[in-house]
Amino acid sequence: MIPLLKAWQRRRALAHAPIPDTLWSSALATQPMLTGLSGTERAELRRLATLFLHEKRLYGAHGLDLTPAMAMHITLQACLPILKLGIDWYDEWTSVVVYPDDFMPRREFMDDEGILHLDDSPRSGEAWERGPVLLSWAAIAAGEPLAIHEFVHTLDLRNGVANGMPPLHREMSIQDWTQALSTAYDALVIRLDREEPVTMDPYAATDPGEFFAVMSEYFFTEPWTLAQAYPDVYGQFRQFYRQDPLARLPKGPGRRTFEE
Ligand SMILES: [Zn+2]
Repeated sequence: MIPLLKAWQRRRALAHAPIPDTLWSSALATQPMLTGLSGTERAELRRLATLFLHEKRLYGAHGLDLTPAMAMHITLQACLPILKLGIDWYDEWTSVVVYPDDFMPRREFMDDEGILHLDDSPRSGEAWERGPVLLSWAAIAAGEPLAIHEFVHTLDLRNGVANGMPPLHREMSIQDWTQALSTAYDALVIRLDREEPVTMDPYAATDPGEFFAVMSEYFFTEPWTLAQAYPDVYGQFRQFYRQDPLARLPKGPGRRTFEE
């Protein structure tokens, strides 16, 4: 879209389609991950949420009635990671499809020997480079930071593949990023191989793309767990997201220890 037109449409959306105060305050109150944001940050989050609701299409699928409160809940999880990056980081896609529960994509794929398989394993979320983002409402309602997980996949996908390295800022070092994330990823894989207890969701060991998404969940919801397990990853994320959740969130109980 022509940048001037886009800027005009955004000004119009901010002026004419503000989020109602009651919807905004109840949405803020239900998400512990938003605790500790400054007044300026909350105002910016609200601005981003308004633009997000204006520019994206959120659909309920399989009969799900997506209420404004549900849409706002998802929107806040989408906008927290881009609080200091800006809405343009999501400009490659427009649709979010929300299912009542886990869904089955029923995709066909061919293996190396040319045999066709049907992938119909249930999943709670999925993200595609050009959209849509698919989400299970049941998982979100249960308190899982699923929306954060799937939306940060789209940041990672901006340079083509979900490989755990989104486009980094100019002042960041690709080498430092790779070193921090691959050392932590390898350490997690080794611990799981040895059947040692881990503090992180083992799903992070699936591949580097999932590692980035799961570690981002920790960064925004229980940063103390990430900072303790992988301080270098925390440091890289602080530079990438331009936020320091450790400084604003009160330390909570966190998740359970994962044992294989
Ligand atoms: Zn994922």
